[in-house]
Amino acid sequence: MTDLTHRIAAVLREDVRALSAYAVPPSLGMVKLDAMENPFQLDAELRTKVSRAVASAALNRYPDPRAGELSRRLREVMQIPAEAGLILGNGSDEIISIVTQAVARPGASVLSIEPSFVMYRMSAQIAQVRHVAVSLRPDFSLDLDAILAAIVQHQPAIVWISYPNNPTGNLYPDEDIAAILAAAPGLVVVDEAYNIFAGRSWLPRLVDYPNLMVMRTLSKVGLAGIRLGYAAASPLWIEQFDKLRPPYNVNILTQAAAEELLLHMAVFERQAEQICAQRSELSGRLSELPGVTVFPSDANFVLARLPDAPRVMNALLARKILVKNLHGAHPLLSQCLRFTVGTPSENELLLAALIDAL
Ligand code: PMP
Repeated sequence: MTDLTHRIAAVLREDVRALSAYAVPPSLGMVKLDAMENPFQLDAELRTKVSRAVASAALNRYPDPRAGELSRRLREVMQIPAEAGLILGNGSDEIISIVTQAVARPGASVLSIEPSFVMYRMSAQIAQVRHVAVSLRPDFSLDLDAILAAIVQHQPAIVWISYPNNPTGNLYPDEDIAAILAAAPGLVVVDEAYNIFAGRSWLPRLVDYPNLMVMRTLSKVGLAGIRLGYAAASPLWIEQFDKLRPPYNVNILTQAAAEELLLHMAVFERQAEQICAQRSELSGRLSELPGVTVFPSDANFVLARLPDAPRVMNALLARKILVKNLHGAHPLLSQCLRFTVGTPSENELLLAALIDAL
């Protein structure tokens, strides 16, 4: 070992050195169907409006630390209950990390229902909080009895519920989530990253549940590049989480662009409708392929089980189509690939490549 590797080994946490970073494959020149982005570019008129908003931002100054104007618009456009507090993040990833850090007391645990979004588990590892995973059933439905038993046993400080769930695409029954809220000793976060495609939300119920936090993001709506996530809960929770928020975490370009873009949500809602129509088309056509099982989705992606998923993934890569291979990520995801719904022409390319590969 060199001097420097010794030095690093001497000062860094062993578990940090053992971690693998969140994997993002290279995508230049690829048909990108791996990360649940919206495939549509902003039109020229909207681009001009955003450019003007961004051009007038005071780049020499720190941004508004509370993002006051942006918060007001988010509250109005997303109909966040007036009684709720609101926290903004550099993506909802940052909010997951902040909330996890806040509960990281000795002996604390957080619970998520797997397979699900990997950052619930990874943020727990980073914050050195015990992570409890309760498995979905093989058909990806919620095993409520197992979850309630785990809540009694582990008393998790946070229960993470991805609604719809990434990567399975399904929503869970409202009664089950209500039962989890009633049983959980701490905070229950309903992560509605894919809300615009699902049409069901727990946001209006925040007032009824003091231990509920609803988290969302503009990423899947169509603005993954600007990195803006937000979460609403009782102001008593938000006041505490705000202390862990890095100063000025939402930069001035994001604030300026989002303030403008939130005036045009109808554009994104129309795109979401198109994406949902494409999702039905893609799901239907995928299910006609030999040996392919398609799982129902309320999000902007479709999970499918295929004969020899890793081989199919490689065949797609050879055709410059990037999807997500989930084989090996969790026992229930054996032989599964996740396809983000693209434009009609991207979906055709995907289907043609799949027909060839199968
Ligand atoms: N929650 C879920 C369920 C997700 O799938 C993702 C991104 N894949 C996120 C949160 C994070 O989104 P972002 O940081 O872009 O807001």
